[in-house]
Amino acid sequence: MYNVWEKDITYLKRVGPQRAEIFAKECNIRTYGELIHYYPRKYVDRTRISRISDIQGDETFVTLVGKITRTEVTKTRQGRGIMTATFTDGSGFLELNWFQGIKWIQKSLKIGEEIALFGRPSLFGSKLQISHPEIDYLKEEEGNNPKNVLKIVPFYPSSEKLSRMGMDSRGIRTIMGKLLEEAGDHITENLNNDLMRQCGLISHREALLNIHFPESWEKLEMAQRRLKFEEFFFFQLMLAGKRKDAKTHNFGNPFTQIGPYFNDFFQHHMPFDLTDAQKRVLKEVRRDLAQPIQMNRLIQGDVGSGKTMVAFMTMLMAKDNGFQSAIMTPTAILAEQHFKKITLMAEQVGLKTTLLVGGQRKKERDEALEGLASGETDIAIGTHALIEDAVVFHRLGLVVVDEQHKFGVKQRARLWQKGSPFPHNMLMTATPIPRTLAMTLYGDVDVSIIDELPPGRQPIKTMVFGESKRLEVFGFIRRELEAGRQAYVVYPLVEESEKVDLLAAEKGHELLERHFSGFRVGIVHGRMNSEVKEFEMARFVKKETHILVSTTVIEVGVDVSNASLMLIENAERFGLSQLHQLRGRVGRGQYQSYCVLMAGHKLSADGKKRLAAMRETNDGFKISEIDLELRGPGDFLGTRQSGLPEFHLANVVEDQDILKIARSAAFALVEADPELTSENNRTVREAYRDYLRKTDTEGTIA
Ligand code: ADP
Ligand code: MG
Repeated sequence: MYNVWEKDITYLKRVGPQRAEIFAKECNIRTYGELIHYYPRKYVDRTRISRISDIQGDETFVTLVGKITRTEVTKTRQGRGIMTATFTDGSGFLELNWFQGIKWIQKSLKIGEEIALFGRPSLFGSKLQISHPEIDYLKEEEGNNPKNVLKIVPFYPSSEKLSRMGMDSRGIRTIMGKLLEEAGDHITENLNNDLMRQCGLISHREALLNIHFPESWEKLEMAQRRLKFEEFFFFQLMLAGKRKDAKTHNFGNPFTQIGPYFNDFFQHHMPFDLTDAQKRVLKEVRRDLAQPIQMNRLIQGDVGSGKTMVAFMTMLMAKDNGFQSAIMTPTAILAEQHFKKITLMAEQVGLKTTLLVGGQRKKERDEALEGLASGETDIAIGTHALIEDAVVFHRLGLVVVDEQHKFGVKQRARLWQKGSPFPHNMLMTATPIPRTLAMTLYGDVDVSIIDELPPGRQPIKTMVFGESKRLEVFGFIRRELEAGRQAYVVYPLVEESEKVDLLAAEKGHELLERHFSGFRVGIVHGRMNSEVKEFEMARFVKKETHILVSTTVIEVGVDVSNASLMLIENAERFGLSQLHQLRGRVGRGQYQSYCVLMAGHKLSADGKKRLAAMRETNDGFKISEIDLELRGPGDFLGTRQSGLPEFHLANVVEDQDILKIARSAAFALVEADPELTSENNRTVREAYRDYLRKTDTEGTIA
């Protein structure tokens, strides 16, 4: 069937091959269907008509309606053409000037014909004049469809190259007018009447016509609402579909028992009381595990909120039901810390653990593999080394992924493959995704939140200083060290300036060694081989070094409760969530802890906001909301894990009300008619199929 939306824009009036080529290159627009989604970036109201007699002199832009009484082409002294015309609206006269495109204007501007114009008057001597006004011809005849004046006028984004080809905002406006003239009647509905009524939406056609050429501000708002809704709706349909699939197809082993291992630990070996938040999350987890469906749950909790304990107690449930567990971490250091902590707790109830990281000796590794394959080992703790083919489990029932955002979807899935049916899946992250974003992104993942820190923690005090305060800051560090504490000093490191950054860290290390001569200063960075790095880290853990200089390698996980101070150099160069993660390395023991942010002198507006946010709050959820606001969803999530499609109009932060409506409508629709087979949903089904064809996202991030 012929579909006008597949038509090449080369064939659209006023476009042609050259312009079409630029459109393809600059905007990735090739078809009518793609062009119609090229939306204005702003609108200007040109409906209020002024009178010449009311114009005082140099003013802002005005709209005038009247006639041309005289035209004339003259030449400047340099020999360039100027066209002038006299224009009147009955209340006075003014002069119009053109320095370019004269031939064309001369041809189209007829004396006595009614026109509307828009421009900025200036006073030249006693004469009012407007240069290069925008004009609409008001005489009714074919092709005279006023678009530029007397309307709410759309302004389109353009580029240097587009403009050079006559496709500045005004040029694109003309082309868009032609597009709607030719194809506007072919805009079909992609939702259905029920949805439109329930959600208070205007039709697809009305929305597209009004997004380009709004009849009124009210209509424009309705058009925006409708189109934003669509963008959310089809994405949410996809998530709803995934969820439905996961719930119907991903069988899991129900963990029906709470048995001796869990009870023994809980009654006799708990080192502390669980926080209410930890208890609540454990309950949510238990409810999932009792189902014959694979659990897929993300545990979000700020640094230090006690996620590891929740994971460990879930592993005890696995053991009670005859299953092994695995926990995967992004770094070897973190794996080893988990290994030590978990092993201590596991031994108390007679469970066996094993460590699997890169670079282990063959004998050690073979033993680890054997224990897992035979089922003698209950809990495997490791890095990516866990997903290698050689790693075989006897009966894997639970997979925990720590700092899940550091792993790709495929890596996580490879760990699941090691159990059959799929093991239950617990994802943990200390970089909370704001509730708003979590709601948009997750289809097949349930979210639990640990929004409470264990009692007795003193909030970290955060301060911001400039270079001029360096001596005071050093004095402060000295006092902490003399009191027996330890300190981190962190330098930024980014790929683009890695060499310079490393040099800065090394110089800083030297400076600190000289300044703090009575203390030992260690250094770790990503360029060291992992043995040296581990050695340096271990020295700090054992208090053999007092200050640890590092690039951001200490970001995740490491736990040194005696460290009470973190100094971050060039703090403005770090992202907000990253700063918060770093800060989480201190404040892990009973001591009052401090985070000192050293700021350079050239701070951007966003840089200032980041530092201010750090000073004002310790709450990871608040931090992530602010970070999301500052960076926008795309950057916030990073490309790797973001399954977020590109929304043209909608914004997941600002349009949450529409998002909520779209999400519940989509989920309800899939619940009622999973395959969208009913006749009433035909239009939705067709549009959705189209959407899936054009969307290449992997779907959800988890
Ligand atoms: P994170 O959520 O950052 O992974 P951890 O699990 O490492 O946090 O816990 C941080 C510290 O708090 C650990 O030393 C842990 O033993 C301790 N902890 C966890 N839960 C509690 C609790 N309910 N009461 C007291 N201390 C706790
Ligand atoms: Mg942790």
